[in-house]
Amino acid sequence: MIGYTDAQEAIRRTVREFAGKEVRPGAAERDETGTFDYDLYRRLCELGLAGMPFQEEFGGADADSQTFCLAIEEVSRADMSLGLTLWVGIQGAISMTHGSDDQISAWREPYIAATIAGDVVSAGAITEPDAGSDTAAIKTRAEQAGNEWVVNGNKIFISNAGLENCAFAMVLCRTDEGFGIVIVPTGTPGFTMSPPLRKMGLRSSDTRELSFDDCRVPELNVLGGASLGRQAIVGGGFHITRLYLASQAVGVAAECLDQSLAHARSRVAFKRPITRFQYVQGMLVDMALEIEAARLLRDKACALHDAKLPYAKEAAMAKLFCTEMGKRAADHAVQIFGGMGYMDETPVSRYYRDIRAATIAEGTSEVQKYIIARELGCFS
Ligand SMILES: Cc1cc2nc3c(=O)[nH]c(=O)nc-3n(C[C@H](O)[C@H](O)[C@H](O)COP(=O)(O)OP(=O)(O)OC[C@H]3O[C@@H](n4cnc5c(N)ncnc54)[C@H](O)[C@@H]3O)c2cc1C
Repeated sequence: MIGYTDAQEAIRRTVREFAGKEVRPGAAERDETGTFDYDLYRRLCELGLAGMPFQEEFGGADADSQTFCLAIEEVSRADMSLGLTLWVGIQGAISMTHGSDDQISAWREPYIAATIAGDVVSAGAITEPDAGSDTAAIKTRAEQAGNEWVVNGNKIFISNAGLENCAFAMVLCRTDEGFGIVIVPTGTPGFTMSPPLRKMGLRSSDTRELSFDDCRVPELNVLGGASLGRQAIVGGGFHITRLYLASQAVGVAAECLDQSLAHARSRVAFKRPITRFQYVQGMLVDMALEIEAARLLRDKACALHDAKLPYAKEAAMAKLFCTEMGKRAADHAVQIFGGMGYMDETPVSRYYRDIRAATIAEGTSEVQKYIIARELGCFS
């Protein structure tokens, strides 16, 4: 089959329309002031976006990953920060749906249903000041004390944690048995955070350093057992979130192409539109070509995921190519806009700053290359 299904196209159109009317107009101001718009987020979720990847039994739409990726792409065309908050913000509740019966019944309403409704978001806390790519080097510890677990340590660069509607952090911890994911609700004594970190881009998405100082949570809050955590997040969970970030990059690149083309058609130099110049055409052609190639890689990885087939290599390839491509597209867009591209009056300067994070977060480009090399059998 060529292209997307009618249902996927309909969702894409709906999200594009919403993003055009509701998300795009305030994006520059939110970036400038570093503010998150809670009402806008709730409206996005009323449209059904947060619930898309959840199973129907939890009130979700059970959408395939490709459809959700298309939705992320469209939101990110208008505002990459909001797209990031969305997919990061639902991961905690999605993980909870894989919990034990007791965990699901405790978390169904306050966390899972509330996430789908857009009332709450969550944070995923893995990175530490001395352990980023090397997740096995994390030092944050969780120790059992009777029927509680006690968490101590520090995390850094954590998205969403400081938002008013952030209900909990999923914290990757070292345990006596290996690694575990501990759910630490916001407001738990000993769970504190820094003011928002000042960033190059993605300024209306919240990023902070978190501290856990003798933070006590009930035994129920250890997800998947005390030895499952790192494997569940780093070994498998990252593959799908890599496709979400890849989709954000595709969305940003597509927007850069549209805006560059519109500008190049109307901008006159040497008495002709700059689209007539072969060097400008070259940039536009490269953008169009690479966006197509990026979508195909992303879509293949999604198709494998949805067919429940192995897709670690394809997810890494998609993440690597789409995010590096997004960076190149934003760079071309700034170049095509000329001096104006460097000014904050044009959105392309924001896209250029925002997209820079995409080759770092969710595993750097170098880490993706390592994964691809490993999957090719280079280490065996
Ligand atoms: C905007 C933003 C949001 C983020 N949100 C979150 C979040 O919500 N939760 C979270 O836990 N983290 C988050 N992060 C952190 C992100 O996951 C890490 O920054 C990333 O994993 C890289 O880790 P690091 O910064 O420690 O870099 P390092 O691991 O120190 O890497 C530094 C450089 O060394 C290279 N390098 C490291 N190891 C290797 C290797 N084996 N082979 C080749 N090169 C290597 C890297 O590719 C990189 O170029 C976020 C980061 C950003 C920028």
